[in-house]
Order: sequence, then structure tokens, then C-alpha cells
Amino acid sequence: MFCKACGNEVLDTTIICPKCGSSTGVEEVKTVSPALLWGGWLSAIFLPIVGIACGIVIATRKQVGMGIGMVVTSIFAWIFWIGVLIGV
Ligand SMILES: [Zn+2]
Repeated sequence: MFCKACGNEVLDTTIICPKCGSSTGVEEVKTVSPALLWGGWLSAIFLPIVGIACGIVIATRKQVGMGIGMVVTSIFAWIFWIGVLIGV
């Protein structure tokens, strides 16, 4: 194909014309950053486990309401993250 701005011939996959620097209209392929993906999985798997464990420890230390709250919050966070990761 040809650059719309300067007419220079460019590859079909070229995003920016090398001659004039204009956008060729080719959309950049969207990629999920690996860091976000790993962060998501770590959050989805480890944080709820830590949260539930902490909740149980707090509950056994006579702060039952707060412990149960923490466990429930962790379960909801877990469901949320699994949903986000499946959505990706
Ligand atoms: Zn150009």
C-alpha cells in the first residue's frame, strides 16, 4: 500500500510511514502486557488465600465479625479477578 500523506510505498503492516512519519491507518495489534496478566493471576490466586487465612486468624482471636468480613471480601475479590481474567 501507499502512505496517504506522502505517497511513499510502505508494507501493509506498517503503522508509521518511515519517510514522513504519518500514521498509515493500520491499527496497532492490542496486546495484554505480561506484567498485568501475571499481576492479575497473582491477585486472583494468592491474595484471596492470604485474605481468607488472615480472616480465619482474626476470627479465632475473638474478632469474629471482622474475620468473617475479611473472608467474605476475599471471596468476592477472588470471583472478581477470575471474571477479569476470563474476560481478557
Ligand atoms: Zn508518508
